[in-house]
Amino acid sequence: MNINNILKEKQTTSFEFFPPKESAQEAVLFDTIESLAKLNPDFVSITYGAGGSSGEKTFNWTKLIQDQYKFTTMMHLTCYGNDPDDIDRICTQMQAAGIDNVLALRGDPPKEGSVKSHFKYANEMVQYIHDTHGDMSIGVAGYPEKHTQAVDLKTDMDNLKRKVDAGADFIITQLFFDNELLYRFRDSAAKLQIDIPIVAGIMPIVGYSQVVRFTQMCGATIPDKLLSRLEKASPEDAIKIGVEHAIYQCQDLIAQKTAGIHYYTLNRSSSVIDVLRQL
Ligand SMILES: Cc1cc2nc3c(=O)[nH]c(=O)nc-3n(C[C@H](O)[C@H](O)[C@H](O)COP(=O)(O)OP(=O)(O)OC[C@H]3O[C@@H](n4cnc5c(N)ncnc54)[C@H](O)[C@@H]3O)c2cc1C
Repeated sequence: MNINNILKEKQTTSFEFFPPKESAQEAVLFDTIESLAKLNPDFVSITYGAGGSSGEKTFNWTKLIQDQYKFTTMMHLTCYGNDPDDIDRICTQMQAAGIDNVLALRGDPPKEGSVKSHFKYANEMVQYIHDTHGDMSIGVAGYPEKHTQAVDLKTDMDNLKRKVDAGADFIITQLFFDNELLYRFRDSAAKLQIDIPIVAGIMPIVGYSQVVRFTQMCGATIPDKLLSRLEKASPEDAIKIGVEHAIYQCQDLIAQKTAGIHYYTLNRSSSVIDVLRQL
């Protein structure tokens, strides 16, 4: 099913997984999916290793999850590692397997070596998929605190608009810990006539060092008060604080009629289950 149609009907709940690198982690992912399946997500998405390293894996996991659990699925796909022929082949393969949703991303260049990359920015790939596989639902990434490489938020929003004009159907945001950032992003989008659904990316924090690492990587900020509570907390208490904060964010996002909430699960279920149970 196309996600843009689901978004027309309701406020969505979705989960993001990544393809495990080692077989030992596969069992963990299966357990996670089993537990989260009970929460009836509207869709689930599977990340893509830029550089094409996990491309086949991403497709196989997406298909397996869809076939086994009957979820609506979305496969992430990056410009890095793929030329137009690859994109065409992958989208054809996806559609033949009944996977109708793609999150079109630029990705990041690999730290070592080089990979092919015909499309310089995600908007170019969005346009290509829209022109060649127009019946697919296309999602794109949005950054409430701007993308790390963007000079400023205004420039980044203009670039987001390029993706929307190229044919994106919905936006999924980078994680954030202060809802005001999302509402500011939503207002800036509206001023640019970006009128497609904006789904909020939420990651329940599971530890101080984890959140510091993640925020450094993706350029998200974390409120000082929350950070200092996490720093002083025991590992068990840090998980509780993370759940509490995610509930606080999600309750407000739901009340503010956010199009949907996309949970970055990190292939673990317990915090997401705790959040959703209390919601
Ligand atoms: C929900 C979500 C899921 C993700 N999943 C994955 C994944 O599965 N695999 C993965 O490798 N990465 C993933 N990422 C990370 C993403 O690939 C990186 O953030 C990447 O650096 C940017 O991708 P993008 O699609 O946003 O790029 P773009 O939209 O192309 O933007 C990249 C940068 O270029 C600028 N820019 C964009 N278009 C233009 C233009 N036409 N001219 C000049 N400048 C421009 C933007 O302002 C931005 O600074 C995900 C991110 C999010 C938010």
